[in-house]
Amino acid sequence: MESSTHSTADFGRLVWISDEKDGFVAARITDISQNGFTLVTENTNQTVTRRYEETFACEEDPNKSVEDNCALVHLNEATLLNNCRLRYANGKIYTYVANILISINPYQLIDNLYSSETIKQYRGKSLGQQEPHIFAIADKAYREMRRNKTSQSIIVSGESGAGKTESQKAVLKYLCENWGAEAGPIQQRLLETNPILEAFGNAKTLRNNNSSRFGKFVQIHFSDNGSVAGGFVSHYLLETSRVCRQATGERNYHIFYQLIAGASPDLYEKLRLAPANTFNYLKHGATMFFVNSKSPLKIDTSRVSEANSISDSIISDIDDFAKLEKALGLSGMGESEKMFIWSTVAGILHLGNIEFEENSNDSRGGCRITSETEGSLMKASELLGLEPEEMKIGLCARIMQATKGGVKGTLIRVPLKSHEASAGRDALAKAIYSKLFDWLVAQINKSIPFEKSSGYIGVLDVAGFEYFAVNSFEQFCINFCNEKLQHFFNERILKQEQEMYEAEGLNIQKIEFTDNQDCIELFEKKATGLFDLLDEEAKLPRATFQHFTQRAHESNKNHFRLDAPRKSKVKSHREMRDDEGLLIRHYAGSVCYETRYFVDKNNDQLHNSLEMLIEQSSFPLLVSLFTSEATGAVKTGGRLKAVSVGAKFKSQLSSLLDKLNNTGTHFVRCVKPNSQMKAWHFDGSAILGQLQCAGMASVLRLMQEGFPSRTSFADLYSMYEKSLPPSLARLDPRLFSKCLFRALGLDQNDFQFGNTKVFFRAGKFAEFDQMMKQD
Ligand code: ATP
Ligand code: MG
Repeated sequence: MESSTHSTADFGRLVWISDEKDGFVAARITDISQNGFTLVTENTNQTVTRRYEETFACEEDPNKSVEDNCALVHLNEATLLNNCRLRYANGKIYTYVANILISINPYQLIDNLYSSETIKQYRGKSLGQQEPHIFAIADKAYREMRRNKTSQSIIVSGESGAGKTESQKAVLKYLCENWGAEAGPIQQRLLETNPILEAFGNAKTLRNNNSSRFGKFVQIHFSDNGSVAGGFVSHYLLETSRVCRQATGERNYHIFYQLIAGASPDLYEKLRLAPANTFNYLKHGATMFFVNSKSPLKIDTSRVSEANSISDSIISDIDDFAKLEKALGLSGMGESEKMFIWSTVAGILHLGNIEFEENSNDSRGGCRITSETEGSLMKASELLGLEPEEMKIGLCARIMQATKGGVKGTLIRVPLKSHEASAGRDALAKAIYSKLFDWLVAQINKSIPFEKSSGYIGVLDVAGFEYFAVNSFEQFCINFCNEKLQHFFNERILKQEQEMYEAEGLNIQKIEFTDNQDCIELFEKKATGLFDLLDEEAKLPRATFQHFTQRAHESNKNHFRLDAPRKSKVKSHREMRDDEGLLIRHYAGSVCYETRYFVDKNNDQLHNSLEMLIEQSSFPLLVSLFTSEATGAVKTGGRLKAVSVGAKFKSQLSSLLDKLNNTGTHFVRCVKPNSQMKAWHFDGSAILGQLQCAGMASVLRLMQEGFPSRTSFADLYSMYEKSLPPSLARLDPRLFSKCLFRALGLDQNDFQFGNTKVFFRAGKFAEFDQMMKQD
């Protein structure tokens, strides 16, 4: 709060003060000094002092909650947190901040929340007419798509476990149930995309039992008459490292366990499956199955080698396998395609069991496959359509082209050390899995085609800003993506808002927000940006992560956003030398990245002999995964060009942002209420942190002073012309609007007339609309 405005009149007034546990607690002012307040906390009766700027204004009645936060007198982080807390305690997970929807995960199914009756209640209603709901956002997007004839996007953000994917599914359900009937089987297929994507792209992590390990933008296309025509799914950055290794307590992708738990005895035999903990790629993480206690299907105990099944009311591997099979069928995949998928997945598991040892008989110091794991080689080669001998050679050696005097010579086989062969094996497993995922998405897209689209509603579901004790290339990419989205959010909500007020001649104070363009440039600038430096490093004959890190620091000396890791104040970080890490000041806080595997993770190319190996597979589908453009490779001059992971992601993001820039946007901020995944438990401090990361503080300031709803005079005219007497309807739209407002006797504080539009205070447009409909 501003210091100049305080006097003895403040004595006894309630304010919010920050609190380590609850985020904010209410306290009553008992004294005022030059530096700040002396206060007594309401809940614990403690006397504390705080500087003025550490306190936030409190509503007269701090126990009153509102659906739209903008209906409060004081808009700040503390009143927002308190409002969300009050609503959540009443079983309400949704709250608006003007047009932005905040959704707090209940961790429990709420009766009727997403039922068909509820869907009916939201159809055609403007925001604010019904309780806050994700359906209201979906309906608004639909109406604006129809009215403005522009595509719309719904940007769902939040940390892992916040409820992004569930929100995305709810939007899809709402749109399909209302406008999908004409699409016939396509509607069903659209809804069935999720079981497929989740089986292959989701996994149990410590933060979320069903965590999406990839980002997606799901577009629902509509035809001229406003009915669903088809869809298109774009996906980003599947976490491939999980295929080979998982952190303690986490699992590999669901599909591996689903296949082992759910395969028919025949299929189980054919794929030479065995209990999960006999596979290297599964046993380092958690090998348990999810069992749904209500499921009529019971797990075959011979497939579980230990007591390693846990109950989860939502995920069940056996049931989910059955659903997946059905979904694949609906998406047009026949028995042969399904068999291809199962054998590829099982092939990866057996591949992971192949182990190597140094070969003392090889004078060139190569390695060989251990005799105990020869069986795994046989099974993997059979399931991947490869000759076992070829597979052995491909795994134990790499092919190099000798060059002499700049002229390329013959191909030679260079034997590999056992650790190099193991790394190659894992690279092969990851490559096959990620190509399989690309192919599945391509198949899904083929099954939801649209002939003509007059616009779409896209839902973006990507991981929010994250930082852990150790942050690697994955966090580096995700956080870069969040910088871009935050920038877009700023542009849309804050900058454009202010520019519009100015252009319309409205006199509203300028709100400052931290522009993060400099951080984006640190990543994506040509030549000296971190992505380009990483690609350059890979081209060096002796690329090292230390050299890359040094160059990153040298090329960006004195860059406000970049610092040496030792500057990190975060205690949990491992001590790092300056050439081992990057400290980046993100909009949401500083993150220290460990650069050790950056160069490797940025390069997902297989070495030549493995690529050649796969091309020899007798399964044309498997070969096509590696040679077709549809699965991500870029063709230049007849050859497929390797693109680094970072470069690909950068270009995907730039085309995503082009799309977002050309659509009307709606924001949904999902919040994870606590880290224990406990139902209805509100951890104030953790929630506050997420609201801050979502950029809500500056939005609140903007809303407090601004007019977040607006309609052009022309639109207003065409919307209400029919419901008014002809004498009014004869007027030009601007005059018409003025007369209308006067006739209704609206409060002058609730709206302002600009040059081309009328602006409403938050929530006031819905009130006005209601009045018009009643008249
Ligand atoms: P990630 O980034 O890890 O993919 P996410 O934000 O997509 O996380 P979700 O998978 O959507 O998170 O949600 C996590 C879990 O929380 C769900 O599996 C479900 O159990 C519960 N959940 C989320 N939203 C709701 C909701 N609206 N009602 C009931 N439960 C929910
Ligand atoms: Mg998700």
